[in-house]
Formats: sequence, C-alpha cells, structure tokens
Amino acid sequence: MLLDPQGRSFSYLRLSITDLCNYRCNYCLPDGFKCDHKAHYLSLDEIAAIVKAFARHGVNKVRITGGEPALRRDLSEIIALVKNTPGIDKVALTTNGYQLSRHIKSWRSAGLDAINVSCDSLDPRMMQAIIGRNNLDAILQGIDDAISAGIKQVKVNTVLLKQHNYQQLEQLINWAKSKPLTLRFIELMQTADNGDYFNANHVSAEEVGKGLLSDGWVETLRAKNAGPAREFSHSEAIGKIGFIAPYSKDFCATCNRLRVSSQGKLHLCLFGDTGYELRPFINSDDPTILDNAISQFLTYKADSHFLHQGYSGATTDLAMLGG
Ligand code: SAM
Repeated sequence: MLLDPQGRSFSYLRLSITDLCNYRCNYCLPDGFKCDHKAHYLSLDEIAAIVKAFARHGVNKVRITGGEPALRRDLSEIIALVKNTPGIDKVALTTNGYQLSRHIKSWRSAGLDAINVSCDSLDPRMMQAIIGRNNLDAILQGIDDAISAGIKQVKVNTVLLKQHNYQQLEQLINWAKSKPLTLRFIELMQTADNGDYFNANHVSAEEVGKGLLSDGWVETLRAKNAGPAREFSHSEAIGKIGFIAPYSKDFCATCNRLRVSSQGKLHLCLFGDTGYELRPFINSDDPTILDNAISQFLTYKADSHFLHQGYSGATTDLAMLGG
C-alpha cells in the first residue's frame, strides 16, 4: 500500500487521458480549450504500464477523466484495459455527457462500473449560460441511459455557483430525490485563471449541508478510507446528495487519491506546484523501476493544499488534470 509521510494511504488513481475539452464552462475554460503544448497523450501501452504499477502498489480504483475523456476514440479500449488490470476492482469515468447515450453500452461492456456526469442546472438557459451550449436534454437522456445500462453508481456533478445555479438548488435536490443516483455538489475551486469569477461565485458547501440537515437529510457514515466527500440520504428519497468541499477544515486529512495527467505526470495534489514525469521510468523489462519512482515521489506529498490562502499551485484550470 502506498503511504505518504503523513500516514495517508492511496487506493484511488485519477487518470486523465486528454486535456482537450469541447465545452466552455465559465468557471473552467470560458474561452474554450487552447492547446499550448504538443499533444503527446499517454498511449494504451503507457496507460497499461502506469495502471499496473499503481495496482501493484495497492490502488484498486481508477477514475478516467480529462479534459473530456469521451473525445478519445479509444476510450472503450482504455476502460477495458484498466478493468482487466489485476488488482483494479472499480473503473469510473467523469464526463460532461458528450455522446453519452451513444456510447454508454459499449463503455459498460468494456467494464465501466461507475460514472460521474457533469450537469450544473436543470434549466436549459442556465446551462447555456454556464457551459456555453444548450444540450441539457441530451445530458439528462445520457444519465437515464447510464442507469438503464446497469452502471451501478451514477453520480451527477454540480458546481455550486452563487450567481448562477445557487437559486435552483431546491429544483436539483427534488430531481435527485426521484432518481437512483447521487447528486454531488462541488464547491467552486479557485484556479490561476478564474480569480474574479471565483470571488463572485464561490459558495460554501457547508452552508448547503446545514440546509439539508434541517430538511431531514441525514449524513451517512462513510468508511475511513472513503475519501473526503460527504454524503446525505433522506427517508423519502431514492437518490442521495453528496458534497466535495475542498475549503472545509481537514479536507486533505482524508485524501486517498493521486493523479496522473494525460501527459504522464504524477500530481500529488490537484493544487500542487508540479507534476513528476513517469514516462522515463516505464521499462517493460523491469517494472520495479516505475514502482520505485512512484514510491519515491510520494515522499514529496504535502500535508495540505493552500486554497484557503488563494494559492492554487500550477493549476490554471481543472481540465488540465481532470478535477
Ligand atoms: N470533462 C469532464 C467533465 O466535465 O466532467 C471531466 C473533467 S472536468 C474538469 C471534472 C469536473 O470538474 C467537472 O464536474 C467540472 O464541473 C469540475 N470543475 C471544473 N472546474 C472547476 C472548478 N474551478 N471548481 C470546481 N469544479 C470544477
């Protein structure tokens, strides 16, 4: 098991397979994706070597993310490759819902266990204002199709935005009550590129949590190694509500995740200063070279991020690494 100097263990890898994104979410890529580097994304062989190395270190869950992972034509092959890696029990995907209905059956057949679909509003005009296009119907259809395809865990990611969807939370919560999914509110995070937007739109997830408790939602006890998300259930609801609140006290104390970028760099924190190149350590004759490099890099993991002080490290936007 991978342990860092603080004694935290890491069972969860978030693997970005592209930083290319086709949406213009105003908190992430308001001007659209601009490629400022050579697009040298991890190949299938490199992904296989990296996932095997993390699995040998005790990682059992991999989330495939981006950019928009559905833009990679070999996504089904990547899902199958990760799923068939000895030691990996669970393969999840985070997507903006692009062509979800079209592909969900093949992703499921490839072994996809869980999916997070980003959807910031149930109002088409609000979606247009936030993500730069109006395809709400297709996203909602995709979510229903994921449930019908037998994906065991369907989550909907909604970024809390004071000037946009904050007035519509009740509508979102009522929708989630009747669906077999978890609606997960994500607190807006500051990045190098969204400072003014952040100041105008950040809402504390703690506040929303308090409102839920007074409406009869009950916080679910989660396993110690379940990571920093909080979850709530309600006796009259099929769905659950979750929170990712990176500004809350002790958020980093339960960190259980590591990130690899689509360019093959290990990021010890979403808001760290640097990524560590893994490619030079991939060696098919001697896999222990990569294993040892990962162990060594982990000794550099810091106690906490410094988001509270407005410091977001080298992260210009979350599409770079997949959130
Ligand atoms: N393209 C995929 C998608 O839209 O889900 C995967 C990548 S996207 C960066 C992953 C998640 O990060 C999405 O749910 C998105 O809404 C969220 N996100 C992006 N920028 C964010 C920010 N500054 N604060 C909080 N969440 C953010």
